Amino acid sequence: MTLHIDTPLVESLQLSVIAGRSVWLKLDALQPPGSFKIRGIGYACETYMAQGARRFISSSGGNAGLAVAYAGRMLGLPVTVVVPETTTDRAKELLCQERANVIVHGSSWQEANAFARSLIGPKDAFLHPFNDPLLWEGHATLIDEVFRSGLTPDAIVLSVGGGGLLSGVVEGLDRNGWNGIPVIAVETTGTASFHEAIKAGHSVELEKLTSIATSLGAKRVCERAVKSAKKHPIHSVVVSDRSALSACERFLDDHRILVEPACGASLAVVYENMPELQKFSKVLVVVCGGATTTIDQIREWVKKSQ
Ligand SMILES: *Cc1c(COP(=O)(O)O)cnc(C)c1O
Repeated sequence: MTLHIDTPLVESLQLSVIAGRSVWLKLDALQPPGSFKIRGIGYACETYMAQGARRFISSSGGNAGLAVAYAGRMLGLPVTVVVPETTTDRAKELLCQERANVIVHGSSWQEANAFARSLIGPKDAFLHPFNDPLLWEGHATLIDEVFRSGLTPDAIVLSVGGGGLLSGVVEGLDRNGWNGIPVIAVETTGTASFHEAIKAGHSVELEKLTSIATSLGAKRVCERAVKSAKKHPIHSVVVSDRSALSACERFLDDHRILVEPACGASLAVVYENMPELQKFSKVLVVVCGGATTTIDQIREWVKKSQ
C-alpha cells in the first residue's frame, strides 16, 4: 500500500485534435490531496515514521502542506503546518479539514518557515516541498506507472516550481531505461527559476516572484534539477499567466477537472500547440493538479488579466 494512488492515464481526444498529435494525460490531479505531491511526500512521511518520527512539520500553505496533512492523517501521526498571514482562507480551511494543526506566523513564507524549523524536536520530521531525495524517489512512481501501462511517450510535459517533480520524473525515466525521452519543463513568467538556472548553468536566485501560479513560486530550484538537466534532454519553456489561466478554463470544459494555474502552464503548451512540440507525435502531459484554487478565483484572475 502507498499513500498515493495509481492515477488514470488517458488519451485526450480534445487536446489531440487541437495539437494535431496524440496527447496523453497522467491525471495526478485525482490524487486524494489534489496533486502529485503525495507521491514523494507520502513516501518520505512513511520513511521518516519507520525511522521513528512521531510528528510531521511543514511550512507550506499549498499542495505540499496538504500532502503532509493527508499523509499524517492516514498514518495516524499529528501534523503541524506553519503558514504566513498571506495564506488564503481556502488553503487554511483545506489544511484544517485534513486535521492539521495550522499555526499562522509572520508576514512572509521565510518567517513562517523559520518558525516551523524552530519547532523541530527529536521526534519530528520536517518535510521540504521539493528538495529531498525521498521526494524524488516517490515522484518517480509516476513514470513507473506509465511504463507499466505499455505506453511509450516520445516527450513528457510537466511544470517546474522548485524542481522536485522534474527531478523525480527524470529519476523515473532513468530507472525504467527511458533516458532518451525528452522532458519539456514549463514555468510561468515571474517564476522562471529553472529557465534562469539552465541559462546560467547553475541555480540562480530570482529577486522576486510575480506570477499567480504560486505553486511554481520557488526563488531557486534544487541543485538536483540543474544536475538532471545536464544528463537528460530537457527543454525549458516559459508561458504567460494568461496562457496558464486560459488553459485551466479550457481544461475544465474539456475534461471536467479544475486545476491550478501551476498545472495550466503545462496544459497551455498543448492548447497553444507551442513549437517545442513540433518534433513529437505522442506527448504525455503530467496533469499535476493543485487543490488551492477555486473557479471563482480563476475567473477573477482572468478578468484582471484582460
Ligand atoms: C508543487 C507543484 C508544482 C511544482 O512542483 P516542484 O516539485 O516544486 O517543481 C507544480 N504544480 C503543482 C500543482 C504543485 O503543487
